[in-house]
Amino acid sequence: MKLTIWGAARQVTGSMHLLQLKDYNILIDCGLDYEKETYQEENQYFPFDPADLDVVILTHAHIDHSGNLPTLVRMGFQGQILCTPPTADLSELLLLDSVNIFLSKQQKRSKGKNRSSGPKPLYLQKHVMDTVERFVTVGFHKQFRINDQVTLCFIPVGHLLGAAAIVLTINDEGREKKIAFTGDIGRKNYPVLVDPEVIPEVDFLVCESTYGGKFHSKLETLEQKLVQTINEACVKFPGRLIIPAFSIGRTQALVYALNQIFSKGLLPPVKIFVDSPLAEFATDVYRRHHDLLNEDAKAFYRSKGDEFDFDELSYVQDKKESMSVSNYHEPCIIISSAGMLEGGRIQDHLYYNIQNYYCTILFIGYCAKGTLGHRLLRGDPIIRLRNRDLMVYATIQQTDLLSGHGDHEDLMNTVQQQKVENTRIFLVHGEPKSMQSLSDALTEARYRVDVPEKGEVFEL
Ligand SMILES: [Zn+2]
Repeated sequence: MKLTIWGAARQVTGSMHLLQLKDYNILIDCGLDYEKETYQEENQYFPFDPADLDVVILTHAHIDHSGNLPTLVRMGFQGQILCTPPTADLSELLLLDSVNIFLSKQQKRSKGKNRSSGPKPLYLQKHVMDTVERFVTVGFHKQFRINDQVTLCFIPVGHLLGAAAIVLTINDEGREKKIAFTGDIGRKNYPVLVDPEVIPEVDFLVCESTYGGKFHSKLETLEQKLVQTINEACVKFPGRLIIPAFSIGRTQALVYALNQIFSKGLLPPVKIFVDSPLAEFATDVYRRHHDLLNEDAKAFYRSKGDEFDFDELSYVQDKKESMSVSNYHEPCIIISSAGMLEGGRIQDHLYYNIQNYYCTILFIGYCAKGTLGHRLLRGDPIIRLRNRDLMVYATIQQTDLLSGHGDHEDLMNTVQQQKVENTRIFLVHGEPKSMQSLSDALTEARYRVDVPEKGEVFEL
């Protein structure tokens, strides 16, 4: 069999790996590669004919793993897309959100000019609907026979609801071979999600490396960090705490962590607004797949009720209500998207609060270079919003305690579950520096490691 790494090669986004057996072609993930400003044009074409693929298997719903599926379908892919049930539901939300982002970029660029001057959307809602129709869901831990040659098993890896490592048992012209794709690996004790499980022994492991060489801080717990920040921002002083958060995954983890804090009485009541319609839809998906949440969340549900709803919390739906949140005069916590501050309702909240000494902004995720979030984190004293220069008087803070990725130690543990003499490792999904650190550590542990370039082919 032949493995070609077509995406997330020496970079983070655009996961896409082609596994070719005799007369059967499998694509693992079909993510959007959005490292460049011109990404909509760059993702239009595939280095193979989509019509030649027999099946796609999806690790999880994040756009860098699922976001180019509608283009694949538009370009002639006819087969099924296999994934876990929550991944199907969350992918639908994220792909529809992508269409909205494409349309708003088109409008923004073409403002005042001919409408066609903005970038043409990579795909539209109808292409998302055509894609969603192809989803076939397979539960965790089931041995699912794709055909006479290939059996699939999804193993939970934390990270995001429904996220899975893909383990394939393949009869390659009479010889049994096993290959696993980790997708993104989460971390232990993450709010709401199960811990990553052990990946069974395989011959080949295609492993992510996002946090290679990096270690999460262990000095305090998430609960301690949140209690201390809310205390400073909203209890000691009558201020407000703004938390930019991705609507899917990060917001649900944060809401549950806050629910625990207030239900334990660790702080006096503070009003909390979740201002993102997408977050509310995603929360419903988490409720629908309640059986897949971790034991801690299930025990909380049995004793105290809904993990994602409590007295202090309000979900904000319409835009008018969102404006009134910006002008709410009591101390409060506002959770809104987008996480990196590029677009979304969070920009309104920043516009009205960034010059307020009694405002704290807590970043809970990574902000890519070139984003407004990145400019605030590096300490820019002035930012530009809605054509106005605004002085930054708000306090800026950051924590990695809600990062959805395991760190270097977690990645090493994942690989070291495999026998050093039997398993060949391929590193994907990481900045070159992170990949190098992980590759060095694994080589030192005597693993055979490859760091493939885009389009590199391996005969397995
Ligand atoms: Zn992910």
